[in-house]
Amino acid sequence: MMIAKPLLIQGGRIIDPSQGIDRIGNLIISGDKILGLGTAQSSLPDSDYDIINAEGLIVCPGFIDLHCHLRQPGFEEKETISSGSRAAARGGFTTICCMPNTNPPLDDQATIDFVKSTAASEGVVRVLPIGCISKGRKGKELAEMGELARAGAIAFSDDGQPLRSSRLMRQAMEYSLAFSLPLIDHCEDTALSEGGQMNEGIIATKLGLCGIPAAAEESIVARDLALAHLIGARLHIAHTTTQGSVELIRRAKEKGIKVTAEVTPHHLTLTEERAIGYDTNAKVNPPLRTKRDIKALIVGLKEGVIDIIATDHAPHTGNDKLSEFALAPFGISGLETALGSLMSLVHDEELTLAILIAKLTCGPAKLIGTGYGKLGTLEVGASAEVTIFDPDLEWMVDASDFTSKGKNTPLNGKKLKGKIIATIYQGKLVYKDDRLTIQSSKLWLKRQH
Ligand SMILES: [Zn+2]
Repeated sequence: MMIAKPLLIQGGRIIDPSQGIDRIGNLIISGDKILGLGTAQSSLPDSDYDIINAEGLIVCPGFIDLHCHLRQPGFEEKETISSGSRAAARGGFTTICCMPNTNPPLDDQATIDFVKSTAASEGVVRVLPIGCISKGRKGKELAEMGELARAGAIAFSDDGQPLRSSRLMRQAMEYSLAFSLPLIDHCEDTALSEGGQMNEGIIATKLGLCGIPAAAEESIVARDLALAHLIGARLHIAHTTTQGSVELIRRAKEKGIKVTAEVTPHHLTLTEERAIGYDTNAKVNPPLRTKRDIKALIVGLKEGVIDIIATDHAPHTGNDKLSEFALAPFGISGLETALGSLMSLVHDEELTLAILIAKLTCGPAKLIGTGYGKLGTLEVGASAEVTIFDPDLEWMVDASDFTSKGKNTPLNGKKLKGKIIATIYQGKLVYKDDRLTIQSSKLWLKRQH
């Protein structure tokens, strides 16, 4: 629905790391823009408002996901741009960047145009496409990176698989300099990971499953950091999972290499033990690792070694995941549980709310740049993209109720504490929890205590 009157989001805890703001106050939206922030009740301009009572809730910039899989074109049974963007809105995301491993892959202007036009007509949040590094994702020759950049690709990636050829990676970096767009790197030495199902270690051995060693990730992280150092290109490490990778990225940053890195909610909150019981919904690539790795990833987030959190939302059909563990595809449907699972880190005092929100808002906004206006901020005048969540509300994950077509989550039936209440995109309410009711011309929040 379009919010015609100014919308007053009243009395929430406004956290906007882009401006260093963390205080109780009011946020006013008029049309599709932020009109006022922190304005005291007494100095509100006279107007007929729609009102959301946000007492006890967090009000922050809309989340940005730099890494998700929307499966369209080609795999519409797993997800579409429409269903994926609605799942994103339900997860508090107002901007999502989709990976090009579709069929056909996003390796030319026509496919990028298709994603953009479908998103414009059927999506409910901003969808930004990522173009392939190599033609057809085959790893043989470079895609037309200039054409992709002009068409609107915000980065390049062959995600889902690595660039095996160091030489091709070097060329891709050289070309990427011309567009100052980052390469998003799926780091996996397939010679080491081939046939692997889960993290290599004692649990894999006990389960009789083939392991994927940390070195499969770290060797390519190291290779591509060396190349980024040589070329001076922007490198973004996707789904970082190991302590060793965090160390490599830390040292690279100290050396001034232009590297950024992401970590997923599942790699921050779940360990390889989830594979016990052969739950194919816990089968993900890179695999869930160990407690020690999680500790290092959290320290990395706090110290700025890891720049952002990205979901790597990877929906599959129920049938895909019904097969035995060894044959099931990798991937977790993550958009709708991201905030709830990440909030466990806040409740356990591992991360502050301000850091968590920064990694979901101004962190990824910085990587996308300013081509789409100011993203990830509640600055007055910016596009009104706002997420409202209850940090303490407990809810049970019911995958069958997901908006995403992908019901593949290892969290099904688990209780999470922290829930999205409303998502506003360009001034429009694109998701609201049932607890947020609209009465007459006013929005009132009925909270359950
Ligand atoms: Zn990947």
